Amino acid sequence: MTDSATPSDFIAACHTVIGAAHVLTDAHDTAPYLTDWRHRYTGAACAVLKPATTDEVAQLVRIALAHRIALVPQGGNTGLAGGATPDATGRQAVLSLGRLNRVRALDIHNNTITVEAGVVLAEVQARARDADRLFPLSLAAEGSCTIGGNLATNAGGTGVLRYGNARELCLGLEVVTPQGEIWDGLRGLRKDNTGYDLRDLYIGAEGTLGIITAAVMKLHPLPAARVTALAALASPHAALDFLALAQRCAGSLLTGFELMSDFCLQLVSNHFPQLRYPFDERHAQIVLLELSDAESDEHARALFERMMETALDEGLLEDAVVAESLAQSRAFWDLREHIPLAQAEEGLNVKHDIAVPISRIGTFIDETDAAIAAAVPGARMVTFGHLGDGNLHYNVQAPDDGDAKAFLAQYQTALNRIVYESVHRHHGTISAEHGLGQLKVDEAARYKSPTELALMRAVKNALDPLGLMNPGKVLR
Ligand code: FAD
Repeated sequence: MTDSATPSDFIAACHTVIGAAHVLTDAHDTAPYLTDWRHRYTGAACAVLKPATTDEVAQLVRIALAHRIALVPQGGNTGLAGGATPDATGRQAVLSLGRLNRVRALDIHNNTITVEAGVVLAEVQARARDADRLFPLSLAAEGSCTIGGNLATNAGGTGVLRYGNARELCLGLEVVTPQGEIWDGLRGLRKDNTGYDLRDLYIGAEGTLGIITAAVMKLHPLPAARVTALAALASPHAALDFLALAQRCAGSLLTGFELMSDFCLQLVSNHFPQLRYPFDERHAQIVLLELSDAESDEHARALFERMMETALDEGLLEDAVVAESLAQSRAFWDLREHIPLAQAEEGLNVKHDIAVPISRIGTFIDETDAAIAAAVPGARMVTFGHLGDGNLHYNVQAPDDGDAKAFLAQYQTALNRIVYESVHRHHGTISAEHGLGQLKVDEAARYKSPTELALMRAVKNALDPLGLMNPGKVLR
C-alpha cells in the first residue's frame, strides 16, 4: 500500500467500480473464499471482489496497484495446491472471477468456443455438446472448476492421452496485466508464429503474471460412441504392457487409460457402498479404458473385444469387463472419480501429483513403495492416476489404527523427500497437473536448476515488478 492509503480507501474505491454488493468484507460472506478445497490452508483478505466484466477487472487491478494491495485470483476454488487462498496478513484481496460467466462465441467452422474465465467447465462441455462438438477437458471437479482456473493451472484430467491438457486446448487468451491493461489475444488461430508465445506464458502461471478473463478453446468432433472397460492386472508393469498393446490396437481411438490400485477401490467401496468392487475376486491393479469411436458403438465394442482377447492370450490380463450400457460406463467412471473423495472421507493423507516418463512408472512404484514401507511403518499407499500420461496420484494415507494427525506431523516431510527424490531420480516432475500453489513452492525451488529459477524470476519481475499478482505462489 502507499503510505497514506488503507484497505478502507481501497475498498471504497472498489465500491465505485462494482458496487458494494460485489465487494465482500463481512467474515460470514468471505469465509468460503478463504479456505481451500482440501481445508489445508485458511487465509484472510481485506475484501473479496466480484467483478462481472473484463473492464471491471482491469479497473480493480489498477486500484489495487495504486493501493499496493496484492490480488489472489480465484475461480471455482477447487485447486489442490493452495494457489487460490490468500496469506494470513489480511492485506491481500481475493479476485473472484465467477461472475465473468458468459459464453461469448461459438464458431462451428473454426471448431472453437470463446468463454469468459468464470464459466464452469461442465457448462463449456454442455455448450459444446449442444453444438454437436466435444470439449474434451474433463476432471472430477468439472461441476465447480472454471476455465480460468483450468488454464491458470494447466489442468489435465482424464482426456489428456488423446486431446492434451488445458494448454493444448487453448488457442487464445484475454488477460488483464498487473498494470491493469487488457491484452486481447483472443485469436482462434492454429498457426501463429509472430513472436514470443504470451498465451503459453500465462497458461500454468497460477495467476502470478496476470488475470485471465477469457479464452478461445478448441472443440473436437463429438464421438459417435464411447465405450468403457475395466481390466484387472497383476502389477503396474503389466498395465504398462497393456497400455502399449491398447495403443497399438486402438491408436487415437484410445481416449482414457486410468490406473487404480486395489486399495483405492477398497476405499471407494468402504465409503460409498453403492460403488461396489467391480470383479468377483480382488486384483492388484485395475485399469479403466475408454475408446471414443467416430463410427459406431458396435465398431468400438468389436475393437475392444479383439484387444482384450489379445491381452488375455498374451497373459497380460487377469480379467476384464466391457460396459454394457451408458449407466454401466458411468458407474466405472464413478469408481475412478470417487477415489479422491473416498480418501478425504478416510482422513488425513499426503498427496503427490507426480509424473515420470511412462516407461518408468512400474519401476518408480516398486522402488518408492519399498522405500516408504521401510521408512514409514503402517503407511497405506493410494496409487492411481492417468497412466497413459505418466501421471500418478501417488498418495499416502495414515495407518487406519492410529492418530492420523500425529502420523502426518511425524512423517510428512520424510514421505515427501522419499517420493520427490525418487521422482527426481526418474527424471520426473513433482507437479504434473495441480500446479505449485503455495503447497509445493519450496519443493520446486529445490528441484529446479538455478538457471531455470532465474529465468522464471526474470519473467515474473518483468511482468509484475511490484509482486502484486498472487504473491507467494509458484515462486518466492
Ligand atoms: P481455483 O482453485 O480457483 O484456482 C487455481 C489457481 O488458478 C490459483 O492459483 C488461482 O489463483 C488461479 N486462477 C484461478 N482463476 C484464474 C484466472 N481467471 N486468472 C488467473 N489465475 C487464476 N486437476 C487436474 O488437473 N486434473 C484432475 O484430474 C483433477 N481432479 C480433481 C478432482 C477433485 C475432486 C478436485 C477437488 C480437484 C481436482 N483437480 C484436478 C484440481 C482442480 O480442479 C484444478 O486445478 C482446476 O483447474 C482448478 O480450477 P478452479 O477454477 O477451481 O481454480
